[in-house]
Amino acid sequence: MIWDPKHECMDIEERRALQLRRLREQVARLWVNVPFYRQKWEAAGVTPDDLQSLDDLRRFPFTEKDDLRKTYPFGMFATPLEEVVRIHASSGTTGKPIVVGYCKSDVTDIWAETIARTICCGGGTSQDILHNAYGYGLFTGGLGVHYGGELLGCTVVPMSAGNTQRQLMMMCDLGATILASTPSYALTIADAAEEMGLGPDDIPLKAGLFGAEPWSEGSRQVVEEKLGISAHDIYGLTEIIGPGVAAECEVKGMMHVFDDHFLPEIIDPETGEVLPDGETGELVFTTLTKRAFPVIRFRTRDITSLTHEPCPCGRTHARIARITGRTDDMLIIRGVNVFPSQIEDVLTSFAEIEPQYQLVLTRKGRLDQLEVQVEVAPRFFSDTIGGLEQLEQRITEKLYSTLGISVTVRLVEPKTIERSIGKAKRIIDLREEE
Ligand code: ADP
Ligand code: ZN
Repeated sequence: MIWDPKHECMDIEERRALQLRRLREQVARLWVNVPFYRQKWEAAGVTPDDLQSLDDLRRFPFTEKDDLRKTYPFGMFATPLEEVVRIHASSGTTGKPIVVGYCKSDVTDIWAETIARTICCGGGTSQDILHNAYGYGLFTGGLGVHYGGELLGCTVVPMSAGNTQRQLMMMCDLGATILASTPSYALTIADAAEEMGLGPDDIPLKAGLFGAEPWSEGSRQVVEEKLGISAHDIYGLTEIIGPGVAAECEVKGMMHVFDDHFLPEIIDPETGEVLPDGETGELVFTTLTKRAFPVIRFRTRDITSLTHEPCPCGRTHARIARITGRTDDMLIIRGVNVFPSQIEDVLTSFAEIEPQYQLVLTRKGRLDQLEVQVEVAPRFFSDTIGGLEQLEQRITEKLYSTLGISVTVRLVEPKTIERSIGKAKRIIDLREEE
């Protein structure tokens, strides 16, 4: 089911006209309401009148995460606080948190709507029991998914994250059909299910909505098999709204960006130049409709590519490819750029290991060293020492041939890497302390 066919399957030219109209209104509002933007635009020599076409947006300067930190907490709000009904904050994975606000219509007319679209992308309907294991609180995942689930008419179970065995018990007892969580928590749940002797047939789930952190096709396969579900990638970020920015339909592989609300661009992160469809770069968003906390050309630091090719599902939104990672998480190992998700891709191609890993960075002299610690699957752990050494060797070689870097691989015992309940912490950087 498509939640809002009028907007999701709109004729592309018609949507572009809508986007331009909304963009012009938004920019004109911010010119009056947010001194930060007006100053920045004046300095760049642009005014709202310069927006005659969508391409004219390129003349406007970017908004950076740092701009949002400098105006902490309310400097970027475009409505008075008395109209703000909700506050959230980014999890601060990469520094001081960023505080964002929502007015009533932001929550009901945009956020809940785009989450309802997201759930429908994953095959959900009002018949579903939605087990929501995203964390509730300042993090946008929990409450964001919650309101969209209710709008669609699902029976929402507001579990939040943690206490995994209890989660599984509730899922089975209540007959949950959709699981919403981070992909790493889905792996934790799948693991716990196995330990409790629950197979895919014992678990009522049919679909999963997984996002908030990078993951790989290999992990998708693992959770799909262990939980007996169809796993969908969903994308969002606090600064734009939270979850509900983009979602994967049944076609999979790419995510529909709900671009009647969130206008995407891909830029070259070095030069800031806009890149054509198909080229990989940094994702930039402009919110077209949000009122309390709009952003213009916000640099997400997330790396992906964009396409406007039609999707067989009928939705006509632009689509983004799986997010490789954020520029902040990119490792530079002896001159080669690597994202943890690329390492995960290689690791999950080995049946003998679990997609549970950590990347430990150290420095020897002036050279950075990377050790990949990864868990052996329990059924292979009984293998001989020689067998395990050989496996280490094979993984090292595959990492080298795929990524072009030589790293140390260390197999660790099953269940020794700490399980994630939210966003997994994959990188352990010991470089400063040496
Ligand atoms: P923080 O930036 O503090 O982690 P958020 O919770 O807003 O705060 O996280 C948003 C970020 O999470 C995105 O910018 C992106 O890096 C990552 N993310 C969200 N969804 C996905 C996804 N489906 N795939 C990869 N990364 C994702
Ligand atoms: Zn589609």
